[in-house]
Amino acid sequence: MNIILLGPPGAGKGTQARRLEDFYGFKHLSTGDILRSAVAERTPAGLLAKKAMDAGNLVEDKIVVQIISDHLASGSSSGGFLLDGFPRTLDQARSLDVLLSEKDMKIDYVLEIVVDIPVLVDRICGRYTCARCGKGYHETFAPPLREGFCDACGSMEFTRRPDDSREVVDNRLQVYTEQTAPLVAYYQGRGVLHQVNGMLPIHDVSLEIEKILGLF
Ligand code: AMP
Repeated sequence: MNIILLGPPGAGKGTQARRLEDFYGFKHLSTGDILRSAVAERTPAGLLAKKAMDAGNLVEDKIVVQIISDHLASGSSSGGFLLDGFPRTLDQARSLDVLLSEKDMKIDYVLEIVVDIPVLVDRICGRYTCARCGKGYHETFAPPLREGFCDACGSMEFTRRPDDSREVVDNRLQVYTEQTAPLVAYYQGRGVLHQVNGMLPIHDVSLEIEKILGLF
């Protein structure tokens, strides 16, 4: 079963993808995570992507399509994959169709996680992670149990994504509306789109998704 998680920044795509990966063994492919690693490692793709990412713009289609193509070619997704943050443009969606048809594969479900814009802004602008183990926190909704210490590993070092600042978030949301939201109609036309209420608590969103996917 191959799945796309669609939705604006802050909708909870990464959170839901990690839960599905942990509980059901899907291969989670996040182009954002892969690009952030490429930036940190200063690979050629990372150096090309950095400027667009810092500004909250999209990285060139050919770079992200190549990333997905490499991962599909590696064969590590044979048990089903979960695409998080890809595709983000109609051209990327068409390229994905070509890549999959070459491998006799298809997308079975596109889950659109729907969340109101003011909620997205609050979620994104307050989030941060442990610099050592990567556990995620939120200033208001999910602070560490002991202030200043990571619940999971005890580290006192935390980090924030540079593109989670207020100015960049506004641009990321606009980019989503202009370039990514048209994918809803694209996948609706193929009969694979399902909407999920992303305003619910994390566990309830997971239950909605599991029901759609027929996992229980
Ligand atoms: P994300 O972690 O999904 O919010 O992605 C972070 C940033 O990576 C985005 O704001 C874009 O700059 C870049 N990015 C991730 N996925 C894509 C994609 N499919 N197409 C273009 N840019 C992307």
